[in-house]
Amino acid sequence: MRTIGLLGGMSWESTETYYRVINETVARALGGLHSARCLMSSVDFAEIEPLQSAGEWGELARILTEEARSLARAGADFLVICTNTIHKLAPEIERGAGIPLLHIASAAADELRRAGIRRAGVLGTRFTLRERFYTDVLRAGGVEPLLPDEAEIPELDRIIFDELCRGAILPESREKYLKAIEGFAARGAGAVLLGCTELGLLLDGAEAALPLFDSAVIHARRAAELAMEG
Ligand code: GLU
Repeated sequence: MRTIGLLGGMSWESTETYYRVINETVARALGGLHSARCLMSSVDFAEIEPLQSAGEWGELARILTEEARSLARAGADFLVICTNTIHKLAPEIERGAGIPLLHIASAAADELRRAGIRRAGVLGTRFTLRERFYTDVLRAGGVEPLLPDEAEIPELDRIIFDELCRGAILPESREKYLKAIEGFAARGAGAVLLGCTELGLLLDGAEAALPLFDSAVIHARRAAELAMEG
């Protein structure tokens, strides 16, 4: 089994999902006492988020590439960045680490396509939605992304950083997300990609207007499969 290098803590609330899903996937496939070989570098998100907000992407690339390098030095065979937003820096981090990176949006596009979905609503942070680093990878993977109304983005983003990354799961925020999902259904999406790793925590078990694809779960499962491919 290959060793997975997890770059986590962004936020730890969702990195916990990765650790659980990766181990559940390996245990299900191999049975017995099997669990995943993995290493984790979990950063202090209070040092990361202000740099994102300030647009200090060069400094973030420096910090996170160093973390990724330490995972590679410790024996990680490939890299999994446990957040969609930081995939803005995926090419730099992969280059700097010197080991391959499993891209979250490629894994998500593969899963959507396999399910026959060609047009999907995407929910995530303002960075993930407004910039092209994420949606371009979905397009390259054969999925046309639909974005929420521009006017909805600030509140959807606020909920991620002010609530979900701090462990607060509020019913009124779930309603706001469900409303955005209804908007996607009205515009002809076949499904919704939860393109923020904390959104599964908010929408778990919710009655949504469209099928939900959770980027954290998809990414973690794919990482486990890749590790087992050896
Ligand atoms: N984990 C979130 C994501 O998947 C947001 C936190 C971050 O900005 O990294 O985008």
